[in-house]
Parts: sequence; C-alpha cells; structure tokens
Amino acid sequence: MEKYNLVPEQLKYEGIISSENLFQPSPATKEQVLAIHDPDYFQKLLTGTLSRAEERATGFRWSAELIEREITIMGGTIESVRYAAEYGISANVAGGTHHAFADRGEGFCLLNDLAMAARHAQSLGFAKILILDLDVHHGNGTAAIFRGDSSVFTFSIHGAKNYPFRKPPGDLDIALEDQTDDTFYLRVLKENLKIVLTDFRPDFVLYQSGVDVLAEDKLGRLGLSLQGCLKRDQITFDLVRNANLPISFALGGGYSPKISTIVDAHSNTFRTAANYID
Ligand SMILES: [Zn+2]
Repeated sequence: MEKYNLVPEQLKYEGIISSENLFQPSPATKEQVLAIHDPDYFQKLLTGTLSRAEERATGFRWSAELIEREITIMGGTIESVRYAAEYGISANVAGGTHHAFADRGEGFCLLNDLAMAARHAQSLGFAKILILDLDVHHGNGTAAIFRGDSSVFTFSIHGAKNYPFRKPPGDLDIALEDQTDDTFYLRVLKENLKIVLTDFRPDFVLYQSGVDVLAEDKLGRLGLSLQGCLKRDQITFDLVRNANLPISFALGGGYSPKISTIVDAHSNTFRTAANYID
C-alpha cells in the first residue's frame, strides 16, 4: 500500500510533476459503477453483505472505508480519461483492478476501474477502446466483462503460469513462459501492439501498467529487468502517441521485495509518459 504515496512523492521530488499536475478524484457515481457492475453485487459491497466465500475471494476483509476507497480509486481512472483527452496522457496513481468481474470481486479487486473508464470514454465520444493490460497477471475480469463487445478490445500479455489459473479469453491473449526475458517480451509487445492499433483502430487506449513483470517480483513469473520494463512503457507510449491516440494508465501490480524497486519501476512509467504529453 505504501507505493501509492511514495510514487507521487518521488515524482514531485524529481520535478517530473508538480502539485498542479495532480487531481483529486471524486468517487465514481452509482451510474458509472452500474454501467459495468451488477446492481445486486454493488449493493452487497455497499452494505457489507457479501457471503463469507464471496468476501474471501476478494482477498479483503470488508469495511465501509475499504469500499469508499475503492469507489474513489474508480473515480481516479474514470476522471483521468478527460485529462488524457486534453493532454494526450494521464494516469491514476492507483487502480488497474482488472480481476473484478461484473458480479464478483477477486484477487484484491472489488470493482473494475478500466472497464468503467472504457464506458466513460465512450460516453465522451471515443467509440472504440483498447485496453492494453501488461500486468503479469491476466485481466480475467476485464476480459469477461467485454466478451462479445466489439467496441472494446482487450489485449493482455501475461505469465502463462501466473494467477488466475482460469483465464477467460480476451480479444488477444499472449501467455508467456516463466522467466521470459526483455528481448523476447519487447519484440512480442511491439509486433502485436502495432497489429492491434492498425487492425482494430482504437480511438482511446487504457493501459494497465503493472510492474510485476520484473524478474525479482514475488508473485510474477516473468524475467524482465528494470530497464526492460522501462522499454515496455516506451514502446507502448511511442506506438500509441504516434498514432495520435490519447492514453490513460493505471498502476496495477508490483511486488518486488524492495519497495524502492517498485517505486522506481512505476516512476519510470511516469518519467516516460512525461515525454509524450501534448
Ligand atoms: Zn498483477
């Protein structure tokens, strides 16, 4: 949890951002939540009436503060859409809750911010949305939510043997072997992202930039170096911004043993993004 404060502090310290580049999100509205989520499920979250099994699957102990925090995080990713439309790039310094399904939570995700942000972007006139998910874990919730929806393309590159063990198909899923290195990973990303941008022709890109792809990550099984992870962000921003598309990213996972590695890897995404602002 520490990283959510440390990343913006680090960026301010380095002068990558100043306080005026930060926005304080409003909580997502009920309408925004229900554009994605099942009303009964949302009601259970609000009232703390999940079954024991449902609560256990989320990974959290329910509390009113937890739900309030989650709904505010949703607001961060949703509102960042508007800033990406204005400046080309924007971010939520949290979020990326891609394991949340329409009617249930899983893997420390209660509600799906990327899915809500996709619908919000569509309400602003961006018809076709690409959700690029480069967290080491497959975005199972996001894939399931948009299954059969041709207006949202879900593209995930993840560890084949990483959680979740059942991966509902997205539009493009690339499952990589344990310890996949920088060279192979970056080639796969570059080739396929180019194809998706050309063939699907999105109007807006949402990017889940999890840094649990690092070799030292406690949960991830891939083998990227810090430099490789930085290059991943560069390739992404380069291809998306050269196609003149707005992009908004959310932090996603990162579980390296040293907090400084996690903060550095996430900060790299922002350091790189700063070069692509309009
Ligand atoms: Zn992850």
